[in-house]
Amino acid sequence: MRRSRNAKIIATLGPASSSLEAISSLFEAGADVFRLNFSHGSHEDHRKSYDTIRSLETTFGRPVGILLDLQGPKLRVGKFSKGKVTLEVGQKFRLDMDETLGTAERAPLLHPEVFAALKPNTDLLIDDGKIRVHVLDCGKDFAETIVVTGGVLSNNKGVNVPDAALDVSPLTEKDLLDLRFGLQLGVDWVALSFVQRPSDLAEAKKLIAGRAFVMSKLEKPQAMDHLDEIVELSDAVMVARGDLGVECPPEEVPSHQKRISRVCREAGKPVVVATQMLESMITVPTPTRAEASDVATAIYDGVDAVMLSAETAVGEYAPEAVAMMDRIIRHAEQDLHYQQSRMHERRVPEATAADAISAAARQVSQTISAASVVTFSSTGLTTLRAARERPTVPIIGLTPRLDTARRLALVWGVHSVQTQDCHSFREMVDTALRVSCEEGFASVGDALVITAGVPFGTPGATNILRIAWVE
Ligand code: PGA
Ligand code: MN
Repeated sequence: MRRSRNAKIIATLGPASSSLEAISSLFEAGADVFRLNFSHGSHEDHRKSYDTIRSLETTFGRPVGILLDLQGPKLRVGKFSKGKVTLEVGQKFRLDMDETLGTAERAPLLHPEVFAALKPNTDLLIDDGKIRVHVLDCGKDFAETIVVTGGVLSNNKGVNVPDAALDVSPLTEKDLLDLRFGLQLGVDWVALSFVQRPSDLAEAKKLIAGRAFVMSKLEKPQAMDHLDEIVELSDAVMVARGDLGVECPPEEVPSHQKRISRVCREAGKPVVVATQMLESMITVPTPTRAEASDVATAIYDGVDAVMLSAETAVGEYAPEAVAMMDRIIRHAEQDLHYQQSRMHERRVPEATAADAISAAARQVSQTISAASVVTFSSTGLTTLRAARERPTVPIIGLTPRLDTARRLALVWGVHSVQTQDCHSFREMVDTALRVSCEEGFASVGDALVITAGVPFGTPGATNILRIAWVE
């Protein structure tokens, strides 16, 4: 089974997609990676989804990526004595560290770090920015505010503090438990929420210790001040537009998205665009034209993957949303303008053997109209460099490691396959030819461009390029 597109699709699982049939239909519609969102659901729910996805790998004979998304330091107001209150514009509203149930006059906000960072004359946003309050006065355990934008406020709604860099670790107590659980399950990617600075990655990377790749979710504008270093330290980056678009005004989201995509493309790190991509498909079977255009724009920008959240987690048209995304991506990628912009936006290879070989592979494959570029890579790092070249033909990423094959499911243009280790040139060529034909990427008469490292079995030593023909 093969996909006929380069960019990948991440589908978030949830109540609308928990059964074997539902997850299976998302995979068949085009999902390459599944996101387990630990902001919702129990460990038992996630374990079930995990096992279901792994069973699909056997059914379909394809490695599938699993992304554990940690909730991170998401701030929430506490509960109200009547479950909800209505806040009127111009009224006073107090937030404090008192655990007593809230009223229309005050509510608990049990996050001391918020009060520590808060200053008078700044705003707090509640419930994805629907409610805005302005801080008049504050101290180490309270804030007196005036309501600027009112509305109904119910239990446990999210709070954003756009103007402050909070002194919080991106890993909460809950995250540490979730991370340990997820690593035991064997997830392929771990996403860290609300990464603000390079140091936010240190603890997580130490705990993960190479057992999964790490994705930084950029959803605080403060992260933009350290973008290069964050990208450098991450294995991939997500443009998390949901919270980002609350933390900063909506008009600033597109330029952040473009800049993050550009920096990631330059660094050769996979970049994911997420949230509200086909939002209206949560309740109707077709997207708005603006949504279709949003997905296509990310594709024209050369991102590795686009993500569905509520559309597949709770939506009424989950497989339809994936299928729609698949169609939009394929159509964009077939457009002449897409092909041309890909040429212009080619990155200069870095001064390494892997980049020299990857650039050559891209060029040779184009010159001789090869059927594919085949990479042999144990860690997947060379395959990532091959993908950074954005070749015009598919990349078949061969690896002896199943975890690598699964991680590569997220990467632009890569069809990953787990194979046995090669010990000779003969074996390497035979494996490349056999797998390319079996997987439907080549047939008699086709040329392949193969990259690998000799001596065989030395990771990180890509140093040869070989052309082979299917006979
Ligand atoms: P979330 O992250 O869905 O976990 O909030 C994505 C976003 O904020 O866009
Ligand atoms: Mn978020």
